[in-house]
Amino acid sequence: MDVQYEVTPASAQTTHLDLIVLEKVSRRYVIGPVTVTALEEIDLHVDEGEFVVVLGPSGSGKTTLINMIGALDTPTGGRIEVGGVDVTNASRRELFDFRRRLVSFVFQSFNLFPGLTARENVQFGIDAADGNGRATAAEVLDQVGLGARAAHFPHELSGGEQQRVAIARALATGNPILLADEPTGELDFKTGVQILELLREQARPGKAVVAVTHNREISRIADRVVELSSGRIESDGPPRGGRTDVSELHW
Ligand code: ADP
Ligand code: MG
Repeated sequence: MDVQYEVTPASAQTTHLDLIVLEKVSRRYVIGPVTVTALEEIDLHVDEGEFVVVLGPSGSGKTTLINMIGALDTPTGGRIEVGGVDVTNASRRELFDFRRRLVSFVFQSFNLFPGLTARENVQFGIDAADGNGRATAAEVLDQVGLGARAAHFPHELSGGEQQRVAIARALATGNPILLADEPTGELDFKTGVQILELLREQARPGKAVVAVTHNREISRIADRVVELSSGRIESDGPPRGGRTDVSELHW
């Protein structure tokens, strides 16, 4: 089956496209006699252009949720559709294609390859995606303000710079959905703000960003905040008091 993942920009259509749809999604882990319910009947829609923050304390199911959206994990109940692909019933081949063309990940601990330079790490993103990315590694590094550090290895860069390389690697794929798991968790405030600026910029027509965090302050810059508590959605809506600019955050 030939799957087409091109996403039409909002400007070209009257209604918004649901890039991510979760219907009654549950995830249970059975370990011997114990069953852990990490997620319980989650309903969630993310439109193109949205910057969604999933907020919740440690253990509330944030990582489980974002991994399932990215097809790194499979629900034990319910249905997930991402970019028009029914992830829950996809074949291995379709999932392989899905991961290459639709989603890219940014992790708390950056997960750069230590033996590769910044440019090579970004090139890896381009090669792995093989399709959507139209910019060169050097161009994407320029975009995140690290053009001059292309030949540097991760250990020669600060935490914030490493995370910017990780974001560049994710952007280089050209994939429409950016998933970020506690992307500022290991960064100081000032550096964290720079990273949030970069992530915010990525939510534009045809694209969506889902970032998970335990830091309520970060949720203030979202278009929509989805609050998780013990694997359930507590609330889903714009941030209380309206959306704030990244420059107004404090923590
Ligand atoms: P968060 O990212 O919000 O901290 P997680 O999604 O990592 O939360 O975990 C949610 C719940 O699921 C926790 O209770 C956690 O212990 C449990 N859990 C996560 N992964 C596994 C696993 N592989 N096996 C058993 N339980 C797990
Ligand atoms: Mg987590």
